[in-house]
Amino acid sequence: MTVRTRIAPSPTGDPHVGTAYMALFNWAFARQQGGQFVLRIEDTDQARSTAESETAIYEALSWLGLTWDEGPDVGGPHGPYRQSERREIYAKYVAELLEAGHAFVCFCTKERLDALRAEQLAAKQTTRYDGHCLNLSPEDVQKRIAAGEEHVIRMVVPAEGNCVFHDRLRGEISMPWAQSDMQVLVKADGMPTYHLAVVVDDHLMGITHILRGEEWLNSVPKHVLLHQYFGWEMPELVHLPLLRNPDQSKLSKRKNPTSVTYYRDEGYLPEALLNYLGLMGWSMPDEREQFSKEDMVAAFDIDRISTGGPIFDQTKLAWLNGQYLRNLDVDEFAARVGAWMVNEAQLSRLIPLVQERVERLSDLVPLVDYLLGARKALEPEDFVHKTLVREDVVKVIHHTLAELDQLRSWQRDDLFALCQSLAGALDMKFRDFLFPLFVALSGRAVALPLFDSLVFLGADLSRARLRDALEALNVSGKERKRLDKAYADVARALAAARSD
Ligand code: GLU
Repeated sequence: MTVRTRIAPSPTGDPHVGTAYMALFNWAFARQQGGQFVLRIEDTDQARSTAESETAIYEALSWLGLTWDEGPDVGGPHGPYRQSERREIYAKYVAELLEAGHAFVCFCTKERLDALRAEQLAAKQTTRYDGHCLNLSPEDVQKRIAAGEEHVIRMVVPAEGNCVFHDRLRGEISMPWAQSDMQVLVKADGMPTYHLAVVVDDHLMGITHILRGEEWLNSVPKHVLLHQYFGWEMPELVHLPLLRNPDQSKLSKRKNPTSVTYYRDEGYLPEALLNYLGLMGWSMPDEREQFSKEDMVAAFDIDRISTGGPIFDQTKLAWLNGQYLRNLDVDEFAARVGAWMVNEAQLSRLIPLVQERVERLSDLVPLVDYLLGARKALEPEDFVHKTLVREDVVKVIHHTLAELDQLRSWQRDDLFALCQSLAGALDMKFRDFLFPLFVALSGRAVALPLFDSLVFLGADLSRARLRDALEALNVSGKERKRLDKAYADVARALAAARSD
C-alpha cells in the first residue's frame, strides 16, 4: 500500500500555525513512508473563503519548505483539488444516498429549527434534529422541490447503539449514536458540508492516513457511517493534540500570534519554526531538541506522538530561533537578513514614506526603526494624552482590532474608511482617535503616517502590536468581556449605517 496523507485547510483568514503543524506531520509521515502528500482546499464556505487566503496558505507552506505532490496549484491525477470545483462529484454520491434511503430531503425552516433547539435546551436535552422530515413521501418531496421550496439534505443516523472506531493514538473509542446529529450533507445553496465532502474526497483521493486535529474526533461517527453507506474502507485515523496557549487554552490569536506570516515577518527562520512545531507532541528518539525536517522524516514514528496538549510558547520558540541564528555563518546570516526585510524591494516601499522628511540619509534610521524592527515595549504611561482617558484609549484599540480582524483587504483606503467610520461611531475627533493607534503601532505619539505604517507592516504585525498594546494597558479578562459587548453595539450601529 502506498501511504497517502493530506491536509485540507479552509482558505478563510490567515495561514494558521496549526495548519503548518498538521502539514508538517502529514508531510513527514508521507515522506518517510515513500508515499504522497496532498493539499486540498476546503472552500465550501463560499462566504468566508478567499483567493488571498488560499495564496497565503501556499506561500506559508512553501516558505517553511514543505512540498506537496498534488494540489490545486500543482495538479495531480485526483483533481480538482478545490472542493468548490467538485460539486458534480458530490451530487452523484448524494443521489446514491437518497436512493438507498441513507439521506433525506429536509424542508425545515430556520424558525422551526431555532424553536426546536430552544425547547431542547430548556429541557436540558442534547440539541439535535428531531427527524421531522424523515418520512415525507417521495411525491410530496418532489412537489415541494418543484415548487421551489428551500431545502437541505441530511443523513440518516441510527437512534440507538454506539459507534465504535479506532484512533491510532487513542485505541478503541465508542460514542453513542444519540450524540450524532442528522447532519446536513448538502446546504440550501447546493454546496456540500465538510462532512460529506471530506469523506468523498478522502476516498476518491486514495487517502490512507488522516492526521488531523483532535477537534474532529466527535465528527468521526458521521464519517464512519458515511463510509458504511458507501461501502468504503475507513482510512486510518490519527487525531493530533491541539496546540495550546501557555494557560492551556486552545491556541488563539487573542493570546498568541497564530499566523505563519507573523512569524516570518518578525524574523523567525522557517527551519526554526518547523523544528519547534516538530516538538509539539512529538520528540526524537534521543530527545534532542534541535533537528531538521530531514532528521524528522528519518526518525518519524506516529506512535511517538503524545496526546497531551502541547504548549506553543513564544519564549521557547524565540530561544530556539536564537540557536539557529547563532549557528549561521556571516554570509548566510546576511543573506537571511536580506530575505527578511533589508532588501531593495522593502526599501523602495519605505523611501516614499520618508523622502520628504529627511535632511541626511542617516535621518532615515530613527524614522523607520519601528517598521523594520520590533517597536519598543509599551508602558501605560505611553498612552497619556491631553483629552483621552485610559478608557477611551482601550476602547479605540480594542474596537479597531475587532474591525481589523474582519477586514478582507489590507488597502490604505479601506483602512482609512474603517478608522473614520469607527471614530464617527465613537463620536471622537479623528485626530484623537488615531493617537492610541500611533502609540500601539510605533511606540511613539508622532510617527510616519498611520495608514502607511499599517500597510507597510501588514495585517499580522499590525494586529499583533494592537493586541500587545492591550496587554501593556493591563486589560483584564473581565474588562475585555465588557469591551466585546460594547463593540457588539458599535458594530451593529456601523452595519446599520453601511446598509443605509
Ligand atoms: N477543513 C478542515 C480544517 O481546516 C479539515 C479537517 C480535516 O482535516 O478533516 O480543519
